[in-house]
Amino acid sequence: ATPTALLVGTGRGAQMGVLIKGPEVLESTRKVDTVVLDKTGTVTSGKMSLVDVIMEPGVDRAELLRYAGALENASEHPIGQAIARGAADEVGPLPAPEDFANVEGAGVLGSVDGTTVVVGRETLLADWSQRLSAEIAEAKARAEGEGKTVVAVGWDGRARGILVVADTVRPTSAQAIAELQRLGLTPVLLTGDNEAVARQIAAEVGIDQVIAEVLPQDKVDVVARLQGEGRVVAMVGDGVNDAPALAQADLGLAMGTGTDVAIEAADITLVRGDLRSAVDAIRLSRKTLSTIK
Ligand code: ADP
Ligand code: MG
Repeated sequence: ATPTALLVGTGRGAQMGVLIKGPEVLESTRKVDTVVLDKTGTVTSGKMSLVDVIMEPGVDRAELLRYAGALENASEHPIGQAIARGAADEVGPLPAPEDFANVEGAGVLGSVDGTTVVVGRETLLADWSQRLSAEIAEAKARAEGEGKTVVAVGWDGRARGILVVADTVRPTSAQAIAELQRLGLTPVLLTGDNEAVARQIAAEVGIDQVIAEVLPQDKVDVVARLQGEGRVVAMVGDGVNDAPALAQADLGLAMGTGTDVAIEAADITLVRGDLRSAVDAIRLSRKTLSTIK
């Protein structure tokens, strides 16, 4: 295509809420055959809320909420914020943790009122030799089977219960994915969340291929692996942890509702935070490059 055609295409994109970094981006957009989609904040709204609290026997609900909420109040993760909000709603003002550490893709740990507290994936608690009872583990599996995210809470060396957090699929995601498939593209769901949750969300929006339990730093390797298989990959993401994968992809698309780091790493920003804009971007590039040869 001529530079003029590309510039016109870029301008058209801006009108539709598809911000394209440079005219040359439209060229790579056309060749894409695989679209890797981050789950949280991309396919889903990322607006989570605390929907259930299940305690191990003898554990006080308010105490669990206070410890977990205090720690998560210091976290910027959507799961952490949902927990902090839900906890504060129920138990009131939360104490500031004396100590706080974020374990990327796994959870948080720190000290609240002199007690060492861990909140996160079951594997994070296992690192501290804390295990959920069979009963709670079963409740966890059930909630995950419903597509909810479950995090475990432990303190003083023991697992104390679980918090169930639910996210909602963006209302336009299923339509966008159906349209991507109609354009001949293969969608792939990529997430750090567990297989059961990932499968449930994938089924809700019509994605067959799921790559779950991927650590933040490994998302980029998944994209590189797909490229190694000869695929031309677009990646759509929103989070700080998606940035390297967005840069690695042949085409990076950031949700406008996402973090600045993701937007900087991407070639295209979907201003409206709606996956249908990814479809608009691909249609636009095909049109721009086919009408003017
Ligand atoms: P995604 O790839 O879906 O955006 P992340 O890689 O950020 O998810 O996180 C992966 C998993 O790690 C979460 O599903 C959750 O189980 C756990 N996790 C991450 N951060 C936190 C936190 N602040 N509190 C509790 N659990 C967390
Ligand atoms: Mg995300």
